[in-house]
Amino acid sequence: AYDVLIVGGGPAGAAAAVYAARKGIRTGIVAQRFGGQVLDTMAIENFISVKETDGPKFAAALEEHVRAYDVDIMNLQEATSLVPGKLIQIELANGGVLKSKTVIVSTGARWREINVPGEREYRNNGVAYCPHCDGPLFKGKRVAVIGGGNSGVEAAIDLAGLVKHVTLIEFGDALRADAVLQRKLRSLPNVTVITSALTTEIHGDGERVSALAYKDRKTDELHRVELEGVFIQIGLVPNTEWLEGTLALSRHGEIEVDARGQTSLPGVFAAGDVTTVPYKQIVIAAGDGAKAALSAFDHLIRSPLA
Ligand code: FAD
Repeated sequence: AYDVLIVGGGPAGAAAAVYAARKGIRTGIVAQRFGGQVLDTMAIENFISVKETDGPKFAAALEEHVRAYDVDIMNLQEATSLVPGKLIQIELANGGVLKSKTVIVSTGARWREINVPGEREYRNNGVAYCPHCDGPLFKGKRVAVIGGGNSGVEAAIDLAGLVKHVTLIEFGDALRADAVLQRKLRSLPNVTVITSALTTEIHGDGERVSALAYKDRKTDELHRVELEGVFIQIGLVPNTEWLEGTLALSRHGEIEVDARGQTSLPGVFAAGDVTTVPYKQIVIAAGDGAKAALSAFDHLIRSPLA
């Protein structure tokens, strides 16, 4: 059995693996796709001390760092359930079962897509999901934000300070963000808010985004907005479907953790985008991964001898 078994091989999982292995304890890491979400991005400019890198390079560096230690890496494996017990079991889609004294869940999250033509084609070429990450790439340009909840309105306010113009598109009759955010948004001179709008297509010139089309749901009229970027802000979905009924989850499906990364189940810790910790960023996920590994080690040294 492992001392620490990490499920998820993104920045949180990789940091947890390095921190656990450095304690000289038996460490394993299972990942569907080692590297995680960073594999889907080209420019990373906010991982402190690395001025600029790209996703595949960053993912390769994560793996190289973990491989420098004695860690069992089980890549391309999906965990399907967690069974509590004196030894915690992780069941895999391939039928295998792994056992460990402690588990760190770092299965991350995925951005909800709007599923319109153009979204996938122009991903990273005008279609973006993370304003903290990609906002500066659109300096002086025109962008749309799709989604009028808190994250969409926050993104629009944030982007309005960087870009030339922001069009906020909301499907419903009204924005759903907190009133204070809506007031702030409406006070900005370079923001247009459009409600009752169904985005139908993201157009491009073959290389980059050039416009967005939407249908006015009240009149059925079609409209076209010329722009260079579209930020999709309709939700981040944590990868916790396999944990429902096992760990306490928030109403958004995120794993509830305390300041040490402890979940509702003793011996099970969590870190990164899969948790309730706010601001889903690489540097935050990596820091929380390190924290979860130290908490797991602390748990092990306080446990009665087996
Ligand atoms: P993830 O990176 O999501 O990793 C999750 C891991 O768990 C993966 O290995 C996955 O395969 C695995 N997994 C999931 N389910 C299972 C399962 N059931 N069994 C086994 N393994 C499983 N952040 C920045 O700070 N700067 C940026 O510039 C930046 N740009 C981004 C651009 C894009 C396009 C995207 C999508 C995100 C970007 N982010 C950026 C956000 C950043 O990628 C995340 O905050 C970070 O990757 C979270 O790390 P994580 O380890 O928590 O989860």
